[in-house]
Amino acid sequence: MKNEEMMRRDLAHIWHPCTQMKDHETLPLIPVKSARGVWLEDFEGNRYIDGISSWWVNLFGHAHPYITQKLAEQAATLEHVLLAGFTHEPAVRLAERLCDLAPGNLNRLFFADNGSSAVEIALKMSFHAHRNEGRDRPLFLSLTNSYHGETIGALSVGDVSLYKETYEPILIRSIQTPVPEDATEEAAERAAVALEEILRQRGEEISALIVEPLVQCAGYMHMYHPRYLTLAKRLCESYGIHFIADEIAVGFGRTGTMFACEQAGVTPDFLCLSKGLTGGYMPLAVVLTHDEIYAKFYCDYLEFKAFLHSHSYTGNPLGCACANATLDLFERERTIEANRAKSAEMARLLEPFNALPNVREVRQRGMIAAVELTGYDPARRVNLEIFRRCLKGGVFIRPLGHVLYFMPPYVIDEEEMRQLVGTAYEAVKALA
Ligand code: PMP
Repeated sequence: MKNEEMMRRDLAHIWHPCTQMKDHETLPLIPVKSARGVWLEDFEGNRYIDGISSWWVNLFGHAHPYITQKLAEQAATLEHVLLAGFTHEPAVRLAERLCDLAPGNLNRLFFADNGSSAVEIALKMSFHAHRNEGRDRPLFLSLTNSYHGETIGALSVGDVSLYKETYEPILIRSIQTPVPEDATEEAAERAAVALEEILRQRGEEISALIVEPLVQCAGYMHMYHPRYLTLAKRLCESYGIHFIADEIAVGFGRTGTMFACEQAGVTPDFLCLSKGLTGGYMPLAVVLTHDEIYAKFYCDYLEFKAFLHSHSYTGNPLGCACANATLDLFERERTIEANRAKSAEMARLLEPFNALPNVREVRQRGMIAAVELTGYDPARRVNLEIFRRCLKGGVFIRPLGHVLYFMPPYVIDEEEMRQLVGTAYEAVKALA
């Protein structure tokens, strides 16, 4: 069996992310041989719909001919050059386009190569900007239930205990303010009152507030009202605190607009982007900011105010070429508009879940939909039961505990969407 052989060779050496490796004594790995569109195919010809866009990175499907072509052309021209003291056309073009697309006055762009690094950069830049003005603000503020990545700084501002608890003694300093408890405007107003109280007490110690706008994805797809962002941004301004929008998961159309902040009319001081940036092809990330921040670092070298953060693969041309190709597709295919019909179709397909006794809530924002189950002891690992049942139906989803969710590539067609949601529905119904 080719799948089994691949799995045996893998498990001899590879330590997988987000995994208790012992699980694989009973839980098979899925060796993927190839992928096209929304479909993943294993070594024995079994096909699965990629219902979560391979951890939310894929937008236009796997092996998209246009992105593949642009990647190949770039590889044959310039695969990489360092970005300190050098530049290249794919990076310049991408920076111009992203600054143009981003809300408000965000016109300065710093490259990184993964989402967590983008968060680290935003945190460091914020702290450093205050310091360059003679203020030390060693504390960061984030929302309860938030997730911003798993390097030490990013983990420190997250609030999912599963990832964070073990490392508490080695984290940087952060405090949390309550996320709005549901998607109503009233919940947003209440959470803003709590935020103001914290800012009143500790505002002078805090460099920045970091948020995942509208949807806390790794936080069980918790969704909240845009009003919170509007109020939080206003409060940050009045206390001289930077506002960091981590749109690593929700950017590039996931919530129905190019960037989630647009729905609140908010321009953050820092905007972190990754995942969908390259259409799911290459690791790349960016942090956008504005001239006011940029100016705080701009001086003679011997004043020692420069932002010296660097990664070897910063602004990699292959990543930039894929990102430019992805933006071409957004323009050419009018993706944001086209997704409106797709998300309406998803809403329609989700309706039957509401009638199941083991479903507590169905929620959706744009191309992100979640079904929260109720009545399960965490020790039961209902997520694995659903995962296995869906696989049998040719669907790959990866529930977060008792919350299953759909975040498919935007190219999913009606028939595939029916199979995706319908298979998950049968799995949940079988457990009811
Ligand atoms: N921020 C958010 C909101 C995320 O969802 C993630 C990844 N799931 C990250 C940061 C970290 O990105 P990466 O996995 O590329 O480090």
